[in-house]
Amino acid sequence: MIDLTDAGVVDFHAHMSLQIGVGELIRRDVTAQLNLFHGTPGTSYRWDDLEPAPDYERGMAQWAHPLNSQYRMLIRYVAGALGCEPDVVEIDETLSATMEQGFSMYLESVLDRERIDLVVLDLLGELRDGAAGFPDDRYVWIYGITPLLSPLAVIESGITSLDDAIRWVDESIDSAVAQGCVGFKNLMGYYRALDVSRPTADEAASGLRQVAATPPADVKESFLYGRVGIYDEAAGRAARAYEDFVIRHIVARAGDLGLLQLIHTGAQYSPNQNLHAADPARLFSLFSDPASNGTTFVMLHAGAPYHENAAYMAWQFPNVYVDLSHTMRIPGRLNSILSTILSIAPAHKVLYGSDSYASAEWLGYSAHRMRKHLALVLSDLSADLEWTEAEAEQAGRMVLGDNARAILPGVAR
Ligand SMILES: [Zn+2]
Repeated sequence: MIDLTDAGVVDFHAHMSLQIGVGELIRRDVTAQLNLFHGTPGTSYRWDDLEPAPDYERGMAQWAHPLNSQYRMLIRYVAGALGCEPDVVEIDETLSATMEQGFSMYLESVLDRERIDLVVLDLLGELRDGAAGFPDDRYVWIYGITPLLSPLAVIESGITSLDDAIRWVDESIDSAVAQGCVGFKNLMGYYRALDVSRPTADEAASGLRQVAATPPADVKESFLYGRVGIYDEAAGRAARAYEDFVIRHIVARAGDLGLLQLIHTGAQYSPNQNLHAADPARLFSLFSDPASNGTTFVMLHAGAPYHENAAYMAWQFPNVYVDLSHTMRIPGRLNSILSTILSIAPAHKVLYGSDSYASAEWLGYSAHRMRKHLALVLSDLSADLEWTEAEAEQAGRMVLGDNARAILPGVAR
């Protein structure tokens, strides 16, 4: 059995931690899972303005059920770390007393507890300020570009030509780059399929004109992806041509700037999402385009439940990586997901991430779980892969941190 207890961790995908306890985390998590398509675009990723979810009681009964292991295991982990009973009220009293002594200090103590050297914070459209309070030398950050894809957003700001629209997109990107972001995150999988067509500039320009001439039947609005118009079939195709053109423009810019392009793939455990639309195999349309070869892509969340497809994509394309964040939300599947991915994808293409948000305890819990499961799975796999114990351990250290250090721009190896 290999030992990864002292491996330094880079958490490749997480969101900002807030000064809240575990009870509040669970309430917000259930609300968010049910209601992610709400909230005000452009406002901060604070979850404070999430509207109450219409089916909150049933959501709570499902996700916070005592037999549902995702919160139960988190609660037990935190209780163990704090030395108190696995009781949310008792945990939160201890946590709030600790946080009051200094929030940054508290965050640092959680990172130190699990030897997390660095966290890649996805600030979901916020600029660097969104990470205020996080220990300065322990994070790099990702800029959320999804709100920039919507043709409605440019039309509503009075833009009518494709050139001006691209300038508007570039201005946002430039300010994020000037503030030191290390990559861009695309979460189109939340509201559309991951296939990206290859429209010409003329097709995109005429798409934008056609959308401008067609008022949407409805508008979906979220702080995560801005304002998305719902159109009839013809205007929908036109909107798609524009959007796909912008996606490819941003992907090419990421490559030119030496930054990473992250893409949400797989389930988000929410009634909002069409699971099939988020199969990472659909990204073939983007990855197979020679113009994308200069960009390094990371498929977030292992594409689960299509993790086998994600693993094969990472195996197929030298510039495509797979991140493991969010997979620990279904702890009963974690070993099997890790085993599938690590037996297919090259070991240097797999990145540990947590997808934790709101509570730093989630950062700690995820690293703690992943360290254990990786050691177990790699020990089992080493015979099939003809790895020595030392090689299996090396693979574990790569997944936990070394692979992320190798691809993150500006991060020392
Ligand atoms: Zn995330």
